[in-house]
Amino acid sequence: MEIAIIAHDGKKTEMVQFLMDFKATILAKDITLISTGTTGKHVEKAGFIVTKYLSGPYGGDAQIAGRVAEGKTDMVLFFRDPLGMHPHEPDIAMLMRLCDVHDIPLATNPATAELLIKSI
Ligand code: PGA
Repeated sequence: MEIAIIAHDGKKTEMVQFLMDFKATILAKDITLISTGTTGKHVEKAGFIVTKYLSGPYGGDAQIAGRVAEGKTDMVLFFRDPLGMHPHEPDIAMLMRLCDVHDIPLATNPATAELLIKSI
C-alpha cells in the first residue's frame, strides 16, 4: 500500500510526530511512503524510509497528483496550513480534485489522518 504524505511548513513537526505515533502500523502493514521533498527530508531524519518527490512549490504535489491519477497511490495524508499562503495553490487544488476523481482517501488534517490510518 502506498501512502503519500505532505505537510506544509507549519505542520511538518506534527507530521513527523504522527508517523512516530503510527510507526508500528506503518511497519506491520508494509506501507510504502512517498512525499513532497521537504516533508520527506524531515521524515527521513526521524528514521523512516520515504521516496521523495520535488518540493511542493516546485511540483511535488503535482507529481503526487499524477500518481493518484495513475492509480499508484492508495491514500493521501496532507497536513495543510489553512492560515498560510501557498504559491502552488493550483497544484494543491489539483491533487485534492484528483483524489476525488479517483476516489482516493484524502485527509487534510491530523484528526482525519488518524481515522484513516486506524482503518487500514
Ligand atoms: P514540501 O512541500 O514538503 O516540499 O515543503 C509541501 C507542500 O507545500 O505542498
